[in-house]
Amino acid sequence: MNAPQTRPFDAARLREDFPILQQSVNGQPLVYLDNAATTQKPAVVLEALDHYYRYDNANVHRGVHALSDRSTTAFEAARETVSRFLNSPAAHQVIWTRGTTESINLVAQSWGRQNLRAGDRILVSWLEHHSNIVPWQLVAEATGAEVVPIPVSDAGDIDLAAFDALLDARVKLVAVNHVSNALGTVNPVAEICRRARDAGALTLVDGAQAVAHMPVDVQAIGCDFYAFSGHKVFGPTGIGVLWGRESVLEAMPPFLGGGEMIETVSFEGTTFNSLPFRFEAGTPHIAGAIGLAAALDYLGGIDLAAAAQHEKRLLAQMLELTADVPGLRRIGQPAECVGIFSFIIDGVPPADLGMLLDEQGIAVRTGHHCTQPLMSRLGLPGTVRAACTLYNTPDDIERLARGIHRARRLFA
Ligand SMILES: *Cc1c(COP(=O)(O)O)cnc(C)c1O
Repeated sequence: MNAPQTRPFDAARLREDFPILQQSVNGQPLVYLDNAATTQKPAVVLEALDHYYRYDNANVHRGVHALSDRSTTAFEAARETVSRFLNSPAAHQVIWTRGTTESINLVAQSWGRQNLRAGDRILVSWLEHHSNIVPWQLVAEATGAEVVPIPVSDAGDIDLAAFDALLDARVKLVAVNHVSNALGTVNPVAEICRRARDAGALTLVDGAQAVAHMPVDVQAIGCDFYAFSGHKVFGPTGIGVLWGRESVLEAMPPFLGGGEMIETVSFEGTTFNSLPFRFEAGTPHIAGAIGLAAALDYLGGIDLAAAAQHEKRLLAQMLELTADVPGLRRIGQPAECVGIFSFIIDGVPPADLGMLLDEQGIAVRTGHHCTQPLMSRLGLPGTVRAACTLYNTPDDIERLARGIHRARRLFA
């Protein structure tokens, strides 16, 4: 297949592809910097959803009629698109889920219950989102295994020496995020997976925050599982992906039972479908899969290396324009990071700052960012987080910086 045509990178022009960004909020043109919580959708994604429901809607895999055929074809083509996006060896290693959270729960409940025993260990880093902690705690509770955190530095980097020291025969699985949603840290996941593999452990990479910022190659990373959500990569909510190594997936028991995931059902015993359907019980989010594929096709037309440079410039601009805000402190200073600026201002509660920015049409996130262990590790109840993506512009950052200065003056 030919690579899609890539235009020279131009954030202002990309911004025009996103209808929601064209509106005013609280009397001001919207500045959307809550991209680590969810991303906005380009018109091509909205059109793909509309087209599907308007012309092709039918249930997949079972029908004999034209619409079911079209729906199934588009749904399975979407799986192929995700497979190429991840550089997966085969499309049947791509399993549809509702999102990162469900993908991780699938692994914890299916692989975990089958393979974990009392005394076994699951390593997760202190940087993890709750959805890469709590599923492991649930399966640990059920099996007698233990969830052990990998230390991170004050800068927000995983401590690789401490990781090595934890890697012993008890460790059965290592689960880390590719990019931290709270601090923006880009973790050396290929290196982490290599060390885990050498120690005999499987690996899961939570890619929720990475997919919108960098090309992902599951073979180069060398992980056993990779999870992400459609809505963080310009696609719909309610659709996500679990990618798995074929030999590992093949040996795993079903997670949810129901239609689609079976081969034959009888009261004497039920046999299960092959990959990927064994893990896809019930009617899937067909439109979501098609919308996600449209989002990934859209991303395929963008020079991601240039987008990453653009985000780094926006981060540098945020740091520069807020350097003289009295009492402002950046939280974390990762060696490698995406355009996420997490900060606090002495004497200004994050939630108040968030509301004052909202009054100026600027959307940021405040609070613990679903990373309470990390916040307690850093000794903070929460932060303010401005998270850039490819459609943010230097104008957005100027508005943010002016907004922060104005809010700070109100608290002086
Ligand atoms: C958003 C996020 C999740 C959870 O994703 P859902 O779409 O809510 O399932 C997990 N990990 C990271 C790093 C995230 O940013």
